Amino acid sequence: MTILLATNNLHKAQELSAILAAGGGVTVLTLRDLPAAIPEPIEDGQTLEANAYIKAAEIFQATGIPTIADDTGLEVLALDGAPGVYSARYAGPNATYADNCHKLMEALSNQEDRRARFRTVLCFTDGLRTLFAEGSVDGVILRQARGSEGFGYDPMFLPEGHHLTFAEMNPEQKNSISHRGQALVALRTTLAPILAEGELPSGDSQSRNFSA
Ligand code: IMP
Repeated sequence: MTILLATNNLHKAQELSAILAAGGGVTVLTLRDLPAAIPEPIEDGQTLEANAYIKAAEIFQATGIPTIADDTGLEVLALDGAPGVYSARYAGPNATYADNCHKLMEALSNQEDRRARFRTVLCFTDGLRTLFAEGSVDGVILRQARGSEGFGYDPMFLPEGHHLTFAEMNPEQKNSISHRGQALVALRTTLAPILAEGELPSGDSQSRNFSA
């Protein structure tokens, strides 16, 4: 079965593809594999669930290819769950990963309670079915960034029970414990019967403009 990952974020796409393709039977495409660019869905939902659905539904609508979308947030306890659904834009509309990490460091500068969690919601849709799965990982926000792997807030986040930040882990280590890894393992289990069905015959919802 062909599945399209509704993301332009290369890091996310690599993490998701590695896990999704691992069980076999799935050809994974990203938006970069499509013959033409698709406008980025506007993520104006108030929750990770809403944004994951918006992305999956709009990209499926545009392509006709069964689609998985990811929305992830970093939820910091002492900040009442912020940046949460606004994690990408925490330091402003065009914030870089470094800007967001810097703002987080400032926001927690006088804070002893450093507890946080990453939470990912995945949404799959093939026009017939819409499925959700969630994964989360608890940890703490460090006072100093460590490591150069990964992306986003990875250098700031030390997962509970580990001595390496996500940015000090190799991709396999991060995937094996991460929010995204857990969500995808859960989604893969729910998707198993659908994956076993294989490709739908041409002429139906899978074979619109961008059929792979
Ligand atoms: P998105 O809205 O799901 O694309 O992600 C929101 C923001 O959360 C991203 O811009 C990253 O800064 C951050 N983020 C998402 N996933 C991760 C991760 O696995 N590690 C670190 N930061 C992440």
